[in-house]
Amino acid sequence: MKLDELVLQTNYLNSVDEDLYQLLKPTPLNKAFLISYNKKMCDEIGLDYSECESKDFVDFINGKKVLKGSIPYSMVYAGHQFGYFVPQLGDGRAINLGSINSWHLQTKGSGLTKYSRQGDGRAVLRSSIREYIISEAMYALDIPTTRALALIGSQHDVYRNMWEAEKGAIVLRVSPSWIRIGTFEFFARTKNSKENLLNLADFVIKENYAHLLNEENKYQKMFYELVDKTAVLLAKWQVYGFMHGVMNTDNMSIAGVTIDYGPFSFMDYFEKHCICNHTDVEGRYSYNNQPFIAKWNLKVLAYALKQIANLDEMLEYLESFFSQHEKAYLELICERLGLDSTLSGDRYLDLILKLLDTLEKTKIDYNVFFYLLTQLKDYEDISLILDNCIYPAFMKEWFNEYKKAILIDPRSYNQRVEAMKKVNPKYIIKNYMLQEAIQKAQEGDFTLVNELLNIAQNPFDEHPAFERYSKPTPINLANIRLSCSS
Ligand code: AMP
Ligand code: MG
Ligand code: MG
Repeated sequence: MKLDELVLQTNYLNSVDEDLYQLLKPTPLNKAFLISYNKKMCDEIGLDYSECESKDFVDFINGKKVLKGSIPYSMVYAGHQFGYFVPQLGDGRAINLGSINSWHLQTKGSGLTKYSRQGDGRAVLRSSIREYIISEAMYALDIPTTRALALIGSQHDVYRNMWEAEKGAIVLRVSPSWIRIGTFEFFARTKNSKENLLNLADFVIKENYAHLLNEENKYQKMFYELVDKTAVLLAKWQVYGFMHGVMNTDNMSIAGVTIDYGPFSFMDYFEKHCICNHTDVEGRYSYNNQPFIAKWNLKVLAYALKQIANLDEMLEYLESFFSQHEKAYLELICERLGLDSTLSGDRYLDLILKLLDTLEKTKIDYNVFFYLLTQLKDYEDISLILDNCIYPAFMKEWFNEYKKAILIDPRSYNQRVEAMKKVNPKYIIKNYMLQEAIQKAQEGDFTLVNELLNIAQNPFDEHPAFERYSKPTPINLANIRLSCSS
C-alpha cells in the first residue's frame, strides 16, 4: 500500500477519559532526513518499500504529515523509578499516532508534551540508533519486544550536557501496546479510579488479550497471563545475557514485551552481578536481580488492580513466577547447550550452575561461548573454546562433566549441533558495535547503521565483512556501563 492508503485507528481515545491523554501536534525536527527503514516492519503494516524513500515518509515520521485516521496523542502514566514512586510521568517525548494491524505506532523524540516535565521532548541520535537496532536484534532471537519501522536524523541541536550539542533523531517504534504497569498505577490514583481502571483494562484486553473478552474475572486472568509472559520474557533475557538497565514499572509492558531501550546491554563477559546502567550504583537492575525486579513490578501492578480484581488471588498467583521463570530458563539454556530439554530440567541444574561459575572464572565472552560450542568438530578437541578463555583450566574441568551429561542424549552429534545452531547465533549486537555505528553516524556516514540492522535481523547467517563481530568483545570495550541521558 501507499502511505496515503494506510488508515490508523485510535481506540484509546474513545476508551479512556480525556484527562488521561493529551491531543497534540508533534514539533518537527529541523532538516530531517531518512537514515534507515525496516522492510520487515513495512511488511507487517502493509507498506510498500518504495514509499519509504519519499519525502512524504520523512514528513510522516517527523510529524509534518498526518496519516488517515491518525489523531496524535501522548499518554499519562506513573511509575516506580528505582523503587520510589513518582506519581506522574507520561509520554514526555513520545507521541502515539494510532494503530494498524494491531501495531501501535509511536514516535520517540517528537517534541514537548504535557508530560515532558524538565525534559526537552527530544531524543539524540545515539540512543535512537541503539533502540532502532536492538529491538530488531531481540526479535530475531525470539525475545518479545517492541520494534521499529524507521529512523530519521536531523540538523536539530539537542543538549544533553552544557558543552556540546548533539543532533536530534526520531525512531518510529511499534508495539502491540504502549500501556505500562505505570499506566495502571496512575489510573488507580485518579478521582474516578475504579471506572478509569475498568476502561483501561478493557482497552488492554481488547487489544492484547482478546480471548479473555467474555471470560469471568477477566482482569485477574489478564494479570495471570502477564505473570506467565513476563516470567518467560525474563528467562529469555537471562539466557541471552540481556540486561535492560532501567526496569522501572513505567518501563514494563502490559503486553509482556521488552520496551523502552536505554542503557541496555547484551553482556559481553559473564558476571552474575553485572550492571549496565551507570546510574544504577546499587545494582538494583543488575543481571542477577532482573527476575526479582520483574516480580516486584508485577506486585505493584497487582496492587494497582486491586479495585477491579482480587488482590489476594493475584498475589498468590504471582508466587508461581519463579517456578515458571526457572522452567523456561532451564528449557532454553538446555537447548543452547545441546542438552535434551525434554528430560526434567532439574537434571542439569548442577551442570548449568557450574557452567555459569565457570564462565565467570574463565572470562570467556558469554554468547561467543555458545556459538563456539556449535563449531566444535567433536568433544575431544575443545581448543577452540579454551583459546578464548583467559583462565582455561576451569573450562576443561566443566567440559568433562558436560561430556558425561551428553552421553544420555539419544541424538547424534550432528543432530544435536544442528538444533543448537538454531538458538546460538553467530552474531549478538554488543554495545561496542553500536558505538562504532554511532560514531560513524555522528560523522554523517549511516552505512554501518544499516549494516548492523541487517546483522541484527539475521544473526544466524554469515556476514563475511563483519567476521570480527562474531569474535569476543575486545576486553577494553567489554561490560561498559552507559548512562541514562538519551
Ligand atoms: P525513561 O527513563 O526514558 O524511561 O523516561 C522516564 C520519564 O522521563 C518518562 O516519563 C519519559 O517520558 C521522560 N523523559 C525522558 N527523557 C525525556 C526528554 N528528553 N524529554 C521529555 N521527557 C523525557
Ligand atoms: Mg475521548
Ligand atoms: Mg521509559
